Amino acid sequence: MSTSTAGVPAWNRHPEPFEELISSQAIAARVAELGAAITADYASLIDKADVVLLGVLKGSVIFMADLARHIALPISLDFIGISSYGDATVSSGVVQITQDVSRPLEGKHVIVVEDIVDTGHTVHYLLQNLATRRPASLKLASLLHKPERSERDVAIDYLGFTIPNKFVVGYGLDIAQRYRNLPFIGVVTTP
Ligand code: 5GP
Repeated sequence: MSTSTAGVPAWNRHPEPFEELISSQAIAARVAELGAAITADYASLIDKADVVLLGVLKGSVIFMADLARHIALPISLDFIGISSYGDATVSSGVVQITQDVSRPLEGKHVIVVEDIVDTGHTVHYLLQNLATRRPASLKLASLLHKPERSERDVAIDYLGFTIPNKFVVGYGLDIAQRYRNLPFIGVVTTP
């Protein structure tokens, strides 16, 4: 990674300094493993029903783009947009779908792709909603999980990394819509 001064990432900007938590190399290796696991699990299913990677906008897009290319099956891609209400830093569990899927999910094998499961409220709501659409199966892939913050029992079928209770940014995750394109996962160190 390029550095501006010794040891300081060139990406680091005031007023949101951050440190690298998970390197882009570690992410790439783990995403390849998840893709291989999904390939193995769905290889015998895809001839009978479509397999859809369903990305939750916007945080999942970078993860989803990389994950999809490690799945060696003719899957399809779709997206769903959701927004949470209430305090931006405390998930309320009140979730609204702001952009729905482009094609029906009925009879399809759906893998929801999330950036992070924090309290679990968002994904809990989303999985409940999607289950009513009668997919052939419904699973969850999440790049990150913060188990210390868990308030809902959410089964993550394909998990990238378990992380401590810190606010993270990069590889799809934002601070006020910025830094999603950071190639690694950083921990915000703002005092
Ligand atoms: P939950 O409902 O599981 O508490 O949180 C879901 C959403 O909160 C995530 O999809 C993500 O958008 C946001 N979120 C939770 N923790 C973090 C974090 O550490 N960093 C960023 N950038 N977003 C987070």
